[in-house]
Amino acid sequence: MISIIVPCYNEQEALPLFYEEVTKVLADMKTEYEILLIDDGSADGTLSEMKKLAKNDERVRYLAFSRNFGKESAMYAGFCNVKGDFVAVMDADLQDDPALLPEMMHILESDAYDSVAARRISRKGEGRIRSAFSNGFYKLMESATEAEIKSGARDFRLMKRKMVDAVVAMSEYNRFTKGIFGWVGFRTYWLDYENRERAAGKTKWGFWKLVGYGIDGIMNFSQSPLSFSSWLGIGMTLFSIVMLLFVIIRRLAFGDPVAGWASIICVMIFIGGLQLFCLGIIGQYIAKIYLETKHRPHYIVSETNMEEAKKIG
Ligand code: UDP
Ligand code: MG
Repeated sequence: MISIIVPCYNEQEALPLFYEEVTKVLADMKTEYEILLIDDGSADGTLSEMKKLAKNDERVRYLAFSRNFGKESAMYAGFCNVKGDFVAVMDADLQDDPALLPEMMHILESDAYDSVAARRISRKGEGRIRSAFSNGFYKLMESATEAEIKSGARDFRLMKRKMVDAVVAMSEYNRFTKGIFGWVGFRTYWLDYENRERAAGKTKWGFWKLVGYGIDGIMNFSQSPLSFSSWLGIGMTLFSIVMLLFVIIRRLAFGDPVAGWASIICVMIFIGGLQLFCLGIIGQYIAKIYLETKHRPHYIVSETNMEEAKKIG
């Protein structure tokens, strides 16, 4: 059986289009399937759209969150509640092309791979600055972390049960699913495809939200910002010792008194700024530790048509 997880946040226009297209593909594949729709606290008619679909098709299940918990939480709720031997995560906006599913399935059935991940090779319909930033982010991610993430990787992938179990076992509160997929390992096949534009509705990811998401991703899978601040501190200390020797020798050898009140102030402000910056890095990690130790649930379900669902998880 294949399970399809679909996180939805204000997707009332896109959802029916998605359902139609994905069921067509799944029917052609002639496998058993379930579609788990997750309403991430939408403010529009997404939930009633889901109920409509569920009424006409008993393979459609839905979980509605009590508020907007974010896509990461929605995906986690999906992983916790699907039963399939094969599980896929797909966006509701048809940017993750359902037509790739048969090929993905075919690759997994050959038994040489445990998961097939989609990777877009073009960024058609995306702003240039945004593309440049994403490419920069993936480069940084690659060098700073041990979790393998390919440039252009999407959350869209089909995986075997054993990988899903591993992802569910990673129950950290600060989730970055792309990194988690890489961290749990298993043999992954990267399937390239052309980017598609949204079928309907608007993207929920503004520029600054994406920047924050990128920073979180790096912090969740790497300690390199901390090492960076340590090395910066060591470098500055060595540099200041050299400067000190220079000033002392100049005074002894040439009797030059030290001048330059302005330059001292500049240096002091510079050092003060660096200290705050490094303290900020440490603070960000402490904030994450704080959230992690509270063991809050990732999501709270307010409505569902699955009796056996994990309502708080
Ligand atoms: N999404 C969600 N919760 C959120 C934001 C987004 O479940 O808080 C869902 C959204 O409904 C969509 C998917 O995540 O199915 C990807 O979002 P979007 O298409 O806006 O992102 P983009 O493809 O532009 O990166
Ligand atoms: Mg999208």
